[in-house]
Amino acid sequence: MNKPLNQASVLEEIHHFVGGAEVAGKSGRHGDVYNPALGRVKARVPFASEAEVSAAVEAAQKAFPAWAATPPLRRARVMFKFKELLDAHADKLAAIITSEHGKVLSDAKGEVTRGIEVVEFACGIPHLLKGEYTEQVGTGVDSYSVRQALGVCAGITPFNFPVMVPMWMFPIAIACGNTFILKPSERDPSASLYLAKLLKEAGLPDGVFTVVHGDKVAVDALLHDSRISAISFVGSTPIAEYIYRTGTASGKRVQALGGAKNHLVVMPDADLDQAVDALIGAAYGSAGERCMAISVAVAVGNIADKLVEKLSERAKTLKIDTGTSETAEMGPLVTKQHLDKVRGYVDLGVKEGAKLVVDGRGHKVKGHEDGFFLGGCLFDHVKPDMTIYKEEVFGPVLAVTRVPDFETAVDLVNKHEFGNGVSLFTRDGDCAREFALRVQIGMVGINVPIPVPMAFHSFGGWKRSLFGDHYAYGPEGVRFYSHLKTITTRWPTGIRKGAEFVMPTMK
Ligand code: NAD
Repeated sequence: MNKPLNQASVLEEIHHFVGGAEVAGKSGRHGDVYNPALGRVKARVPFASEAEVSAAVEAAQKAFPAWAATPPLRRARVMFKFKELLDAHADKLAAIITSEHGKVLSDAKGEVTRGIEVVEFACGIPHLLKGEYTEQVGTGVDSYSVRQALGVCAGITPFNFPVMVPMWMFPIAIACGNTFILKPSERDPSASLYLAKLLKEAGLPDGVFTVVHGDKVAVDALLHDSRISAISFVGSTPIAEYIYRTGTASGKRVQALGGAKNHLVVMPDADLDQAVDALIGAAYGSAGERCMAISVAVAVGNIADKLVEKLSERAKTLKIDTGTSETAEMGPLVTKQHLDKVRGYVDLGVKEGAKLVVDGRGHKVKGHEDGFFLGGCLFDHVKPDMTIYKEEVFGPVLAVTRVPDFETAVDLVNKHEFGNGVSLFTRDGDCAREFALRVQIGMVGINVPIPVPMAFHSFGGWKRSLFGDHYAYGPEGVRFYSHLKTITTRWPTGIRKGAEFVMPTMK
């Protein structure tokens, strides 16, 4: 069943990866995986049954004790080897992403790089797991704290970053000594299998990394399995909230990252061309299918007319083509269903009275008429009570909202239910500082459109963009994937005090 990495035929009938080997689905249920540029089904992905998930958990549980007992330095060496393999196969991984997600190849390569950076961070795990030691917390008594693995962890991931988001999770989870089960998006599942094979080639013992494909049935089986200690989720807010509530109710540690509506505030003193470049890239890159995409431009004061004029020139001339085209700036949306949903939001925006300055609904790509393409759309005069302002569109649709001043802009951003990312463009340091201080958002950019933290920081939003106490990857990831244990020791010697019935205090 194990086929070499370079055979494209592997991708046609996608398998689970359990106990270090590919395993064909047995449930009889499956989903179609599309090539979005062609608008055609390219592979079938099996949907795991409860019994298949249970078998995967069993394999992961069996592998846990030996892996947890493996010295962190040896675990780090597997990560080093994995990083080398990722570097060597980055182009292949990017091609797999583009073939199922649709994003342009250069962007897919960027995604792989951001994933590799988390592996680089995980290579430092011996240092990251180092504990603290206090000599003489009392006379003849020492105390030390260590971080230990949790057990079997699971990750449930979205379609929009099929490599990077799983890699926010499993390199750190595994380096901490846990075993990990990935339930990737059923819309672009092939990359996860490729990662599993690279991990095996890097020397990861069988059962430490598992992939089970599926839908709600598989997710619910993971949520209710008492052998699973922790769940990491990234996806839309309603599902994130469900995962958090259900997972914590069954006693698990859960971090669930949800949806977003990211604003970019343009102050009247901003460098307008720089702000326009930032908005175009952040709104239309990856066809807007990024949780850190900018979907609202907040034009402050008299800059609005000039901003909209420049944005509309650029949005009309976006280079939209298949992800494999070297000149493409934006590819198709992931599925027909998602295309229809985004187009539906554009229709609704028009109905609700926003001004559609650039209409990409009729956009066709020559030779790819069945592809799931949508041209860039730009709305002006979007009001906070409109659906296209309130809800996450997750497509190439930028809404411009006009506000009179800085105070109104901050208030607008803070009132939104999501709190993932935000950005401010200005030349005024006081204004930037005030904004960073007061804005109720997890990740803030100043003259930076997509402020995704690097691997040695941590990623996460506020409000309804994250449920749980720990952010993703970086130091927060290490805390999430490990228990703290504190050991207090006494080794003397001659002093017998007899039983003590009062709370111990150190003298
Ligand atoms: P989604 O919520 O539809 O799916 C995410 C995962 O949940 C998938 O693996 C899917 O199979 C599973 N799932 C879907 N419905 C389920 C259900 N009813 N019960 C149990 N599991 C279910 O999200 P998506 O469309 O794949 O991804 C896009 C969303 O992800 C956007 O909302 C985006 O903002 C969000 N996202 C957030 C971040 C972040 O860091 N906050 C990052 C990337 C994507």
